[in-house]
Parts: sequence; C-alpha cells; structure tokens
Amino acid sequence: MHENARTAAVAQRLAEELLFPAAREIDASEVVPQRFLDALADAGLYGLVGPQWAGGLDADAPTAASVVEALGGSSLTAAFVWIQHHSPVRAMAAAPWPLRDAWLTDLCSGRVRAGIAYAALRRPGPPAAEARPAPGDDGWILDGFAPWVTGWGLIDVVLVGARAGADVVWLLIDAADSPTCSASLVDLAALAASSTVTLRWTDHYVPASRVVGVEPYLDWVRRDSAGRQLNGYLSIGVAARCCSLLGPTALHQRVTAGRAALDSASSATVADARARASVLAVRAAAALVASGGGRSIEADQDAARLMREATFLLVFAQTSDIRAAQLEALGADGGRGGRGGAEG
Ligand SMILES: Cc1cc2nc3c(=O)[nH]c(=O)nc-3n(C[C@H](O)[C@H](O)[C@H](O)COP(=O)(O)OP(=O)(O)OC[C@H]3O[C@@H](n4cnc5c(N)ncnc54)[C@H](O)[C@@H]3O)c2cc1C
Repeated sequence: MHENARTAAVAQRLAEELLFPAAREIDASEVVPQRFLDALADAGLYGLVGPQWAGGLDADAPTAASVVEALGGSSLTAAFVWIQHHSPVRAMAAAPWPLRDAWLTDLCSGRVRAGIAYAALRRPGPPAAEARPAPGDDGWILDGFAPWVTGWGLIDVVLVGARAGADVVWLLIDAADSPTCSASLVDLAALAASSTVTLRWTDHYVPASRVVGVEPYLDWVRRDSAGRQLNGYLSIGVAARCCSLLGPTALHQRVTAGRAALDSASSATVADARARASVLAVRAAAALVASGGGRSIEADQDAARLMREATFLLVFAQTSDIRAAQLEALGADGGRGGRGGAEG
C-alpha cells in the first residue's frame, strides 16, 4: 500500500476503533487522557506533515485532510489537542540547523509534543505579545499574552509568534509555568478537556538556541492566509459523523459538496468554504439533536456533544472574512440578506 493510503487507513482505524468509542469519556474528562494521544503518536500521526528523513510521514494535502476529518469526527477534543502540533513541526522543518536537528525527530515521533501561541497575531490593534532583543546576547525577551493556548499539561513546548516592530519573532518556549510565564485555565463550554489556557509573559527570557526565526509580519500574513483549508476538515468530520449517526438523509450530499469546496478552495474562496463547512457542522448536529428527541440533550449523548463541538468550530481559527461569510450563511449579515452560497 502507498504510504499516503496507509496513513489515511491507520487514522480511519484509530478513529473508529479507539477514539469514537471513547469520545464521551474524553469529553467528560478534566484533561484528554494521555493514552489517546500516545496512540496517535504510536501510529506516527504526530509526524503527519514532517519530512521522512526525520521520521515523519510527509503526507500530501489530500491525506492530511482525510486524517483531520477522520480524527475530528471521532473525538474533536483529542483531535484538537493533536492538530496544534503540526505547525511547530512545519516551523522546525524550515528552521536553521542546529535547532531543526535538535527538535524535529522528537516532534515527528511525538516524544516531544507542541502547542502554538500565535493566533492573536491576526488581531488588529496593539500586539498581544511583543519581543525585544535581550541585552548582551542573541536571545529575546517576551512580554504580553496569548489568549488561547491548547494542550497545557499535555505539551512540552509552545511555538510563540510575537511582534517586534514590523517583524514576527518565532520562539520555541517550554510549556511550563515559571515566575515570568503564567498560565490560567479558560473555562470552556465545549472541548473543556483540551486544557486551553491564557498565557502571560513578563520579561520572559528566551535564549538564542530557541529562536526559530524572524520574518516580516506581512510575509507571515501571506503564509497564514494560504494555509487555512486544513482546519475546515474538522468541521467536515463532525458533520460526516452526525450524518452517519442520522442514517441516509440529504445532508450526505451537502457534506460531499462541503468537502469538495474545501478540496478545491483557492485563496479567493477559502473563507466561504470554511464558513460553509462550519455552518454545515452546526446544521448536521442540529438535525441529529432533533432526530433523537429529548434524550439528545442528556449530557452523555453523542448528539449533545457533537452540537457543542460544532458550536466550537464556528469560532476556532475564525478570521474576519470567515466570520463575515458565516454570518451571511446564517442570515445574520446586517440585513443585507444571505446569499445562501456558503450555507451548509
Ligand atoms: C478553545 C480555543 C482554543 C484555541 N487554541 C489556540 C491555540 O492553542 N493557539 C492559538 O494560537 N490559538 C488558539 N485559538 C485561537 C483561534 O485560532 C481563534 O479562535 C481565532 O484565531 C480567533 O481568535 P479570537 O476569537 O480570539 O479573535 P477575535 O479577536 O475575536 O478575532 C477574530 C477575527 O476577527 C478579526 N478581527 C477582530 N477584531 C477586528 C476588527 N476590529 N477589525 C477587523 N477584524 C477584526 C481578527 O483579525 C480575527 O481574524 C483557540 C481558540 C479557541 C476558541
């Protein structure tokens, strides 16, 4: 079997045989039980996008999409903790030696697990996190905050993006509380076991050996907007799971169309495709809730969990254009009237 096909099949098997049967247990846990993330690491999936020379699977885009869909539709909480890991893998693959060689193999195997703290770079206004050169060496000093960092307690390192004037400085810091780095748990209405915290830094020193790179902010903005498809497959996974629990309905065709819209999305259409996928997940979860009657709303039901997960996917990795497309699809776009085009 070709490596990509094998990767997709392994993820599918883990999704159906391990994660989906445990999804309620994971959802109700305080923190995702370690054994589920270990199973993803043992299957090589922490190295999904890593280069083969470092032990990664180097999956192509369709394979990565199918893995994200399968895991997202089995236990969104476990998938969400896991998915944070891949941009640190990509960043390390592009990092200079010796940083790359020090970290990449362990990241690909999942021996070292990573989170991210950079979504706030997308916010307009004063930067949430700033870095300045450390006096006397090539390190940096970090100040400010990251509003959301997922996986605290389950990850070893965090890839932080902080503004330094017109640049972004990328730093790989330890995922540990210290006198200059404090984490406070965010009380979430969905995916509470994802252990998502707000991180605050005060004069936090990062040595040169942990500086992943410095690049113009506008270069990052361009890269960021080019890579927005993948998160959308989490929504397709949730929608597809609802459909399979519902049995045959017209929603199946909408899932197929939503997946195809993501597959073929360009930079001009990706916001619509993402909005379409997240609204579709909400619609499919609502149909599952309605079809199950009152029992659907009991806390331990798949329908109730999937509805909360679909709600979460409306806001995760939302950008202003995705938000506008979502509101339009939901008929809440300021009275201009929905086009229906992005509707799930
Ligand atoms: C539970 C949870 C866990 C998360 N985990 C992580 C994580 O581990 N790491 C991480 O980096 N991120 C994480 N995120 C962040 C996630 O990607 C964000 O949901 C997403 O980036 C939007 O962030 P926000 O809602 O805080 O931003 P908001 O401030 O609400 O902004 C949303 C979008 O609107 C735009 N916007 C806001 N204000 C304006 C304005 N005045 N004018 C024009 N545009 C505007 C922003 O640029 C942004 O694109 C997490 C989010 C959630 C909800």
